[in-house]
Amino acid sequence: MRYISTRGGINPIAFKDAVMMGLASDGGLLLPQSYPVVTGEQLESWRKLTYPELAFEVISRYADDIPASDLKSLINHSYAGFNHPDVTPLVRQNGVYILELFHGVTLAFKDVALQFLGNLFEYILAERKQTLNIIGATSGDTGSAAIHGVRGKKGISIFILHPHGKTSKVQALQMTSVTDANVHNIAVRGTFDDCQDMVKEIFGDLEFKEKYSLGAVNSINWARVLAQVVYYFYAWFRVTDETDAPVNFSVPTGNFGDIFAGYVAKRMGLPIGKLLLATNENNILTRFINASDYSLGGVVATVSPSMDIQIASNFERYLFHLFAEDAGRVKEAFAELKEYGRISCSPEEMALVREDFCSASINQDATLQTIRDFYSDTGYLLDPHTAVGVKAALDLLPSDSARVCLATAHPAKFSETVEQALGFKVPAPESVKELYGKPTRCEIMDADLSKVREFLVAHIG
Ligand SMILES: *Cc1c(COP(=O)(O)O)cnc(C)c1O
Repeated sequence: MRYISTRGGINPIAFKDAVMMGLASDGGLLLPQSYPVVTGEQLESWRKLTYPELAFEVISRYADDIPASDLKSLINHSYAGFNHPDVTPLVRQNGVYILELFHGVTLAFKDVALQFLGNLFEYILAERKQTLNIIGATSGDTGSAAIHGVRGKKGISIFILHPHGKTSKVQALQMTSVTDANVHNIAVRGTFDDCQDMVKEIFGDLEFKEKYSLGAVNSINWARVLAQVVYYFYAWFRVTDETDAPVNFSVPTGNFGDIFAGYVAKRMGLPIGKLLLATNENNILTRFINASDYSLGGVVATVSPSMDIQIASNFERYLFHLFAEDAGRVKEAFAELKEYGRISCSPEEMALVREDFCSASINQDATLQTIRDFYSDTGYLLDPHTAVGVKAALDLLPSDSARVCLATAHPAKFSETVEQALGFKVPAPESVKELYGKPTRCEIMDADLSKVREFLVAHIG
């Protein structure tokens, strides 16, 4: 399998090179040249597999430059730390299925991909005798999952900037309580945007980037999308173990990474009905799907902060397919976005979009009400991101279909909001309680680029 760029500017490369490249060197995103199709008897033969076995079957079709035994051990190692034997268990509540993606170490679905990516980086770096210094900005979830993905790994250091005092308590502790020598937390006196701007400046200095072997871990890495394709298969098997009803997925969406993985599963032949793209008030993708309106607005802060995004980075991957793999058309679209703040699609293109996707935008009041209603009906706690997807599914998907709602975070990770909705304290799992007694390490700094650069240079091995 070879990988190409959505902007058409690179020669096809192998999987390991795609993982190390991250963002394509022409500014586009990397995609496989084709999707292996798995249907009929072959698909059925995967039904009885455990999660890691299934992950191997899916991932090995894309990572064909890694020997099978090595890939198996990378995958087994990545999912051994999950606190549920099914890794991503499916439960039935209130007429919907909840796909619990929060059984990893930081209690959010990002662990599914970042545990694997951390192991993959370590493996490829060792083989190539290289080192990597990961720099990233986070509003909370990506940073903690990335830190746990690479802590203690040989050849890798990680520097994560977060806005001081502006993440949830649990998110901050999940980052700062990791005191491995290769992990560096920087709490910036400023906003998430200040953090992100400084990281962009640092990557923009190509000489500095080369000299210090800097790399990123944001959701543009193909390996992250790939790892997430697996749980669509896994959930589909568990649902169709018990029903013949058509299977739809509802996905709380920010950067379009998670739902794009569902689209890939569909392209591989998995019989998925609709992919329901659920947004909060930051609803550019809902406006696009429902009203053909992809025009930029401002970002608003909501109770589902990991979805407070305007430009969804992975959306470019989907546009490439929507535009029939025409990289020229992708470039035109992004030129239009830059100049006029919007992307326009033809009625024929919009008809294609609506074959695969439907969408709803759920506001904060409805999100909090859903947490309350769901709890009073079932006793089951939803985190605010999951609640957005559940509400969208109840509103939009037929009740005689199997409605699978992706649960992207554990309620304890956003306990402030869950408690606001319910009016009482929610129980914290052991792993959260333990965080409070642990020693922490974190550098608190002003939003001053020269200071951050000095810190990097002093701590890069
Ligand atoms: C990152 C995140 C999302 C959004 O996922 P995307 O892949 O960016 O669309 C939703 N919920 C939670 C809890 C997250 O951490």
